[in-house]
Amino acid sequence: MSETTETRPVKGELLHEGKAKKVFKTDREDLLIQEFKNDATAFDGTKKGTIEGKGTVNCQVSAMMFKLLAENGIENHYVELLSENAMAILPVEIIPVEVVVRNITAGSLVRHRGFEEGKKLDPTIVEWYLKNNELHDPLINDSHILAFGYLDEDGMALLREKALKINEILLEFFAGIGIDLVDFKLEFGRRPDGSIILADEISPDTCRLWDKETGRKLDKDRFRFDLGDVEEAYQEILKRTATAN
Ligand code: UDP
Repeated sequence: MSETTETRPVKGELLHEGKAKKVFKTDREDLLIQEFKNDATAFDGTKKGTIEGKGTVNCQVSAMMFKLLAENGIENHYVELLSENAMAILPVEIIPVEVVVRNITAGSLVRHRGFEEGKKLDPTIVEWYLKNNELHDPLINDSHILAFGYLDEDGMALLREKALKINEILLEFFAGIGIDLVDFKLEFGRRPDGSIILADEISPDTCRLWDKETGRKLDKDRFRFDLGDVEEAYQEILKRTATAN
C-alpha cells in the first residue's frame, strides 16, 4: 500500500503517545503520522532508557519491511517516509491482540515455558497476547479472543495466515543479510471498510535478530539485558537492511 501522497501531510494534533512512538493527526482525514522515538522501555516499562538513533533505525527499517511486504501482497498501513524518523500511515483501529511468531526458542518461551534458548522450532509457533499494559500483555487463547469479541473464527484464521506468510517473507529477507529471524511481534488494525491490515512497526524493537555466523544479538535484547553496544547493533541492522534494498 506504499503509494505516494500527492501533497505531503501536515502534522497536526498528537493523537496517541506510546512507549516508542507518537501518532499525530494530519491536515488530511485519510492519513496519520507515526513518529519513532529514541526512548526505550523493557519489562513492562520498569526499565527505561534512550537508544541514540533508534527512532531513525526503527522508522527506516519498518518502512523497508512494510514496502517489501506490500510488494508480496501483505497490505499494511505504511504510506511514505516523511523524515528520517516519521512516516505517513493509514488510520486503522488497532485490534488489541498482539501476534507473536517464533522460529527459534528465546525470551518468554525460555523464561516461562522451560525451553532451552536457540532451538529451532518446527512447526513455527504463533501466539496471541492481549495488548494491555496494565495487565502486562497476558498470553491468551482462541477462546478468550472469541469470548471477548476481538476477532471471530475467520478473523483469527486470517491473522494466523497473514502472520505465517509475513514470517516466510521476512525469514527469507533476513537470511539474505546473514540474520536469523528468531521471533517477532505484529499488530493488525481494521480499516473503515472493515478490512484487516498490518500496522505498527517491524524493527529491532519488535523482532529478535541474531547474526547467523556469530549468534550475536542485534536487537532490543542488548538493551533489555545490558549486553552493551546497543546503538551499534541497531545501526548494523539498518546498514544491512538498507544494503539489501
Ligand atoms: N515483543 C514486542 N512487544 C511486546 C512483547 C514482545 O515487540 O510487548 C516482541 C519481542 O521483541 C520478541 C517477540 O515479540 O521479538 C517475543 O517476545 P517474548 O514473548 O519472548 O517476550 P519478551 O522476552 O520480549 O518479554
